[in-house]
Amino acid sequence: MAAEGDHWVFYFDPNRCIGCHACTVSCKQYHDRESGADDWRTVTHHEKGTFPDVSEVPISMSCMHCHDAPCEKVCPTNAIEKRESDGIVTIDREKCIGCKYCGWACPFGAPTYGDEGLMSKCNMCIGQGPGSGADADPAPKHEQDGIGAVQPNCVSDCVGDAIKAGPQSEVIQEASQAAANRFKSNNGRVIVEPFEDSTAAVDGTNDVITPFNAGD
Ligand code: SF4
Ligand code: SF4
Ligand code: SF4
Repeated sequence: MAAEGDHWVFYFDPNRCIGCHACTVSCKQYHDRESGADDWRTVTHHEKGTFPDVSEVPISMSCMHCHDAPCEKVCPTNAIEKRESDGIVTIDREKCIGCKYCGWACPFGAPTYGDEGLMSKCNMCIGQGPGSGADADPAPKHEQDGIGAVQPNCVSDCVGDAIKAGPQSEVIQEASQAAANRFKSNNGRVIVEPFEDSTAAVDGTNDVITPFNAGD
């Protein structure tokens, strides 16, 4: 079993994101999914502050490949696997029966129903096509090219350089201490930088926005 530090995680910086949705489009195009299918990566827009001092905060999120993977625990057919080798959580289309249990168990609504009546979600771009399972053919891109050598498409196509992905031990070194601390306290899900609200910064009352409180 790979060490936890070798497990892949996402990093997101709302200060760099310009809310362009290129990551969402890139994901859907690369995986050749119907334009009307639910997105595996979504960008939502949130307002912070009180008029006229209002800031818009875009949040780009996908499956977080959770350390504890609640979706895996409820799947009755063991179609969902958190891979020991790299921590990527996959759905095996051969085993999925489309019961939606994983969608209900996921705190973030990451698994989507559709794609031929089965569940699917972000698979960190291993293999090709929706819901590629652990035995994806071709092999996971970063296994072909070496860990860290190839980035997922949403990362490569991000206009603002706001998303990163890679082994936890590498990604966390590039994060701020605040982001690293929160990552440790949220079950190792996703590393998110605090939002630096330029208005609030004047009086030192910066809000910390995360995927978990963005809608507050
Ligand atoms: S974000 Fe949801 S679908 Fe992804 S690993 Fe966590 S519980 Fe599973
Ligand atoms: S890593 Fe790949 S599958 Fe996951 S959201 Fe990004 S582009 Fe989509
Ligand atoms: S592509 Fe990058 S900058 Fe554009 S919405 Fe997605 S995360 Fe934000």
